[in-house]
Amino acid sequence: MLKTHNCGELRAANTGQSVTLAGWVHRRRDHGGLIFIDLRDKEGITQVVFNPEISGDAHSIATELRNEYVLQVKGEVSKRPSGTENSKLPTGEIEILAKAIQIYNSSKTPPFYINEEVDVDENLLLKYRYLHLRRSGMRDNMILRHKVIKFMRDFLDVRGFVEVETPILIKSTPEGARDYVVPSRLHAGKFYALPQSPQQLKQLLMVAGMEKYYQIARCFRDEDLRADRQPEFTQLDLEMSFVTEEDILSLCEEMFTSLVETLTPDIKLIKPFPRLSYADVISRYGTDKPDIRYGLELKDISSLVSDSEFIVFKSAIQAKGVVKGICLPGCANYTHKQIEELTEIARGLGAKGLISMAWLPDGDDAGDLSTQVKSVATKHLGTAKLKEIFKIFEAQRGDLILIAAGSENIVHKILDELRREMAKRLQLCPSNLMAFLFVTDFPLFEWNEERKGWDSMHHMFTAPFDEDVPLLDSDLSKIRARHYDIVCNGFELSSGSIRIHTRDLQEKIFSILGYSKEEMEDKFGGFLEALEYGAPPHGGIAPGIDRFIMLLTGSKTIRDVIAFPKNQAAIDVMTDAPSHISNLQLDELHLRITEQENQA
Ligand code: ASP
Repeated sequence: MLKTHNCGELRAANTGQSVTLAGWVHRRRDHGGLIFIDLRDKEGITQVVFNPEISGDAHSIATELRNEYVLQVKGEVSKRPSGTENSKLPTGEIEILAKAIQIYNSSKTPPFYINEEVDVDENLLLKYRYLHLRRSGMRDNMILRHKVIKFMRDFLDVRGFVEVETPILIKSTPEGARDYVVPSRLHAGKFYALPQSPQQLKQLLMVAGMEKYYQIARCFRDEDLRADRQPEFTQLDLEMSFVTEEDILSLCEEMFTSLVETLTPDIKLIKPFPRLSYADVISRYGTDKPDIRYGLELKDISSLVSDSEFIVFKSAIQAKGVVKGICLPGCANYTHKQIEELTEIARGLGAKGLISMAWLPDGDDAGDLSTQVKSVATKHLGTAKLKEIFKIFEAQRGDLILIAAGSENIVHKILDELRREMAKRLQLCPSNLMAFLFVTDFPLFEWNEERKGWDSMHHMFTAPFDEDVPLLDSDLSKIRARHYDIVCNGFELSSGSIRIHTRDLQEKIFSILGYSKEEMEDKFGGFLEALEYGAPPHGGIAPGIDRFIMLLTGSKTIRDVIAFPKNQAAIDVMTDAPSHISNLQLDELHLRITEQENQA
């Protein structure tokens, strides 16, 4: 190589050695006669000193150096003069006394600091991603990502899994999101689709007798833009034959536990991972992906206030809705403005308002409870009810209860959002905790009001519990699916399920979802036929790697753990994709453009 050591390697014990280093100018300081540079490579930083008395030539070349110039230095390792050591750098005891230097390339002044993690407009960081990746935080993310994937591969390898690559050009099949499609030049008017996930392929590998499959799989979904979505993302896709839910979940638990404890020992886990049913998480947290690093659980006072004359509660109950809330410890002194801010969040999600009950921290303990409470509801509810409400919420003096009344869906949405918001404001999330959670027993179907039809809650290959199969002919809303999710710190990290492995049941589900026989044949003919050739019972899961590494590194967005992500408008600002193609390409692909995006 063009170097003998890397820039993170040399210590006092190397003093006196002749070495060659190569890297980038991280920082440069001119101290009268001496020039100091921090030379940076992937492994670290080493200080290099150019002294005209040691080498006049090297010193004079060094006067040209600017940040991010790339060079090779030959010199001698020397202990730094006492008092000038840098304890923050692993190489901080030594410096290189330069004898020769070769500049490989100069650099324009970078559009942002590489040597400081200062905030910069994200599109600029993305446009110059190759410079952003030079920053130590991004480099560390990429290296950790590599280690995570290697850990997963090794972990699965010793357990008999086979990594199989599945194609990227496949047939467009409905899987929940919109497909990205690729026009075929050879077959005019026909299209491939990019996989939303290798779902059918991995199931076919089970039919093929592979038994334990995994893949670091790229998935493509043409979904509407949302803050932290990417058109393409990476999953650890896996599938196993002859398993139950327990096999998949315990495999995942063991993998994530040993991975986190090995690669990021500072991060704490809740062990064993809690398991909650879908019904439980919805009722306790209002969401199927709760953050369980903190409490603030939802409490239901619907039955307690069902006979109340308080119009807010009464009308909600009459409309078959619910009255639920959360208790915020120590927030009784929240100002009108603070409560208004929270109410605004609730309004944004469809609430007419929130009912607040502040149990004031000071005042007469022995006195009437109503004198200790600030709430519009007090006069409607009376002291006895208030007491019971506080008991349900396990409230103490000084706490603030926020209550939402209305349809269950909206109340849950509001309280989920308020829980997350308050956890931030009250700083309830320990920074080094990853709280994994398994959610099980999801409903198989959910009603789609727009389409007036049933949708699969996970995907249409998910098996119902055997004992619930008879309900396919009577009550679809009550069927439980063999579907499980892994949630971590409030994010859905993965979904998976035990699959349907017989043609009859699979066809039945397709027809409930609204497919005619012809559509089934057209879209899934090959897959359905495969189920007739001794398809074994099987199941799997697909943890999202980007999101997992985002949580592991404490990054704010998944874009920080993907080497070359798209921006929030699904644009690659570095290469400017998507972009127009030539008329010749269009002709070859048998395409005609009928509408162009307005150029900004
Ligand atoms: N293919 C599914 C998904 O991407 C995961 C699975 O069921 O294994 O969500």
